[in-house]
Amino acid sequence: MNIKQKGLLIVLSGPSGVGKGTVRKELFKHVDNLKYSISMTTRPMRPGEENGKDYYFVTKDEFIKRIEKGKFLEHAQFVGNFYGTPLDKIEDCINNGDDMLLEIEVNGATQVRHKLPEAVLIFLVPPSKKDLYERLKSRGTEDEEVIQARIQKADSEFPEARFYDYIVVNDKVEDAAKRILEIINAEHSKRIRVYDEYLKILNK
Ligand code: 5GP
Repeated sequence: MNIKQKGLLIVLSGPSGVGKGTVRKELFKHVDNLKYSISMTTRPMRPGEENGKDYYFVTKDEFIKRIEKGKFLEHAQFVGNFYGTPLDKIEDCINNGDDMLLEIEVNGATQVRHKLPEAVLIFLVPPSKKDLYERLKSRGTEDEEVIQARIQKADSEFPEARFYDYIVVNDKVEDAAKRILEIINAEHSKRIRVYDEYLKILNK
């Protein structure tokens, strides 16, 4: 039994191509009170993606208007496109005691860390840099120029791992998801999160 508490804000970050989406989908097979924050982006939709499921796809004008209205928890530009986490839903979810997972790149994760220091930051890394480059190339969803830009971007993102609470290697999707699940479970028992409720137990 878990002591009653607010939900966790979990940030899953790491270089593009590391497999954040695949690990996230695996993770969701094993948890029920975890919600996923659907991001907003200006990047073109890829084949197989759905508006409102993978992302909310919007125009640059629409995105900029939302920035001006303060509608994002964080937002960043990534290889020529905007990405952002809509603020609505996050507060409700956490106050209801549900955990919320954000799958975002490193600049966005830094913004979340500054705004909400209690967020749990997880950096997903590939077993090797070579492995990441090969994954980016074999994905077949981008042209060569975009792949090269993403590889360069990944190189600049690796050093950011030092600001994270956890580093998880995505050697095997199932194992990486299991490690993240263990982190989430452990975070739920952290003293700072449960101490007030614990004091109530003492008075029962
Ligand atoms: P992709 O175009 O491959 O879907 O995403 C490119 C990068 O943007 C990935 O690293 C992805 O995790 C990140 N990303 C997706 N949604 C958001 C978001 O809402 N905010 C930020 N900062 N990055 C995001």
